[in-house]
Amino acid sequence: MYNDSAESDGVKSEGYSTFNKLWKSLVPSITIMNPMSDLCWSCQQNSTAILRAANKSEVEKNATLKNADDHLFLVQLERSFYKTKCDSCKSDIHSFFFFKWKFLTSTIA
Ligand SMILES: [Zn+2]
Repeated sequence: MYNDSAESDGVKSEGYSTFNKLWKSLVPSITIMNPMSDLCWSCQQNSTAILRAANKSEVEKNATLKNADDHLFLVQLERSFYKTKCDSCKSDIHSFFFFKWKFLTSTIA
């Protein structure tokens, strides 16, 4: 893409390493995005805490694991609540349109 763009502008394209050096010196604030994590902030913090707890006492390790476990329990509870509400909404919408259809077809006939 860069080579095509340079060629269409009538400019000599640079090699990959020169391009990288120029990019870093001219626009250092624009970087390639790191891969996204699907972990929430609490899960990321808990993962870091678990890694750092490796050399700590058993009491501290257990507290760290319990903290992560408590968070996962709450997440599971929230997910279950959300799914229940979504299913309920789908059912309500289906019922609404069914009764609307029944009403419309009864008034037409
Ligand atoms: Zn989480």
